[in-house]
Amino acid sequence: MRMKVALIPGDGIGPDIVAEAVKVMGAVGTKYGHKFDYSFYLAGGVAIDSVGMPLPESTLLGCQDSEAVLLGAVGGPKWDHLGGGQRPEKALLGLRSGLGLFCNLRPALLYEQLAEACPLKSELIAGGLDIMVVRELTGGIYFGERGRNDAGDSAYDTMAYATSEIDRIVRKAFDIASKRSKRLMSVDKANILETSRLWRSVVNTIAKEYPDVSVDHMYVDNAAMQLVRNPRQFDVIVTENMFGDILSDEASMITGSIGMLPSASLRSDNFGMYEPIHGSAPDIAGKDMANPIATILSVAMMLRHTFACEEEAAAIESAVGAVLDAGWRTGDIMSKGMRQIGTKEMGTLIAQKL
Ligand code: NAD
Repeated sequence: MRMKVALIPGDGIGPDIVAEAVKVMGAVGTKYGHKFDYSFYLAGGVAIDSVGMPLPESTLLGCQDSEAVLLGAVGGPKWDHLGGGQRPEKALLGLRSGLGLFCNLRPALLYEQLAEACPLKSELIAGGLDIMVVRELTGGIYFGERGRNDAGDSAYDTMAYATSEIDRIVRKAFDIASKRSKRLMSVDKANILETSRLWRSVVNTIAKEYPDVSVDHMYVDNAAMQLVRNPRQFDVIVTENMFGDILSDEASMITGSIGMLPSASLRSDNFGMYEPIHGSAPDIAGKDMANPIATILSVAMMLRHTFACEEEAAAIESAVGAVLDAGWRTGDIMSKGMRQIGTKEMGTLIAQKL
C-alpha cells in the first residue's frame, strides 16, 4: 500500500521525535510491504523565521494533498513576544480548521510498566487504565461569537451547536466504543446549558442505532471528579469542545507520562492529523533527550484510523511495550533499576522490535 504522509516537524524537540517516527514507519514499510511517500512542510516558529507566518499557504495545501499529517510540536520562547495571531501555536488552529478536523481522539493509556508515574493511589489503577476521550474540535464556545461592550468592562462568549455538528462527533464516538468495550459516557452540563440538552437528545437518538453499546450521561463537573476518584469506570468519553479540552488534559495527566501520549484529529473521511499531546519542550530540544514514544504511537493511530492497518498499528504498540518491558527508558520516564537511553536509541530499539 502507498501512503502519502505530510510531515511537519515544527519546533523544539519536534524534529528529534519526528525523525524517530520516520524510522519506525520505515520498519513498518519493510515488514508489511508498504511505501510511505513523505513530504516535509514548515509550520510554527520555523515557518515564522523562514517565511514570516506560522502557517504558510504551501503547508496547508500540501497537507490537503496528503492522506495524513504527522506533526511534531510548535512554539518556543523565541516567539513568545509575538502577538496572538502571529504566534507559532496559531498554526495548529489553522491546520485544524483548514483541514476540517472536527474529531479529536486523546487516549489516556497507562502502561503497566510505568504505573508508578501515575499520581493516583495504586488501588485506583489496579488492572490498568485505558480511556479514550473523543472531543468535538471545531464548534462550541471556542468558535462562537464573542466580544466586549463599548466600555470594555463586560464581555461575552457564545456556545452554539447545530444538530449536525453533534451528530457527526457522536457517531465517531459510537463507532469507536463499538470496537472497544462497548461503553460510552457522554459528558455534558444538561442541567444548565441548552446546547447540552440538544447534545443529550442527539446522543439518545443515535444510541438506538447502536444497540450493542451502552450509553450513560454524566455532568461535566461530576466527570472531572470521577476521573480522579474512579478512573476505571470510563472507557470512551464523548464531549463538546471546551469540556473535552479540560477533561482530556486531566485524563492524560493521570497517566503521569506526557512523553507517552499520542492524539488524532479526524474528519468524516479517513484523513487525519496525528501528533503527540506534549509541546515542543525547548528545554531539551536537540539534546537527544526527548521521549519519541508519543510520536511513534501517533504513527500507530495514523495506521489505524487513516489507513485501516490495524495489524501494523498493534505491532507498533506492542513493540513499544516490549522495549519498556526490556527496561529501556528515556529520562522523563526513568525509574530505579531501568536503563536510560536517548531519543535516537529509543526509536531504533522500537524499529528493531518490529
Ligand atoms: P511541553 O509539553 O513542551 O513541556 C512540558 C515539560 O514536559 C517540559 O519539562 C518538557 O521537557 C517535558 N516534555 C514534554 N515532552 C517531552 C518528551 N517528549 N520527552 C521528554 N520530556 C518532555 O509544554 P510547555 O513547556 O508548556 O510548552 C513549550 C512550548 O510548546 C510552548 O511554546 C507551548 O506553547 C508549546 N506547545 C505546543 C503544543 C503543540 O505543538 N501541540 C502543545 C503544547 C505546548
